[in-house]
Amino acid sequence: MTYPNGARSFTPDFAQLIVAMDQWSEPYWQAVGEHRLQFPRCGKCGTFRWPAGPFCYKCRSQEVEWVTAGQARIYSYTVLPVMGPDKDAPPQWRVPVVVEFDGIPDVRLVSVLVGAPLDALAIGDMLEPEWLAAENATVPGFRLAEEKA
Ligand SMILES: [Zn+2]
Repeated sequence: MTYPNGARSFTPDFAQLIVAMDQWSEPYWQAVGEHRLQFPRCGKCGTFRWPAGPFCYKCRSQEVEWVTAGQARIYSYTVLPVMGPDKDAPPQWRVPVVVEFDGIPDVRLVSVLVGAPLDALAIGDMLEPEWLAAENATVPGFRLAEEKA
């Protein structure tokens, strides 16, 4: 698909988003608040489990250890036109993205790609986190790694 010349994805406003967390996801959100990404791995069989929950889906253990994520990459994405602020304004472009991480097999994070040049995106592109403020937490968005200033 062809997009308007130079079109980039916009950054959604999450200021009113309230993140739900519990004892199993709280370490994830605490790390994100410190601008780190980590994911839970079963302390008994080593299976990564995401979303964070009380039991390993393979061995039912409740033991958990947290592992820092490696390089983030685009696993999948799509481009959605969103109506502009009024009916005559050009659309804004939202890019939901599914992210995978080196060292964290079988975990994929649904997020949003911000500031991305729409005509230059590809599966496997390296990403860097972009920390976005929600009402009660920080939320990880992503931007292309080579776009980082
Ligand atoms: Zn397990």
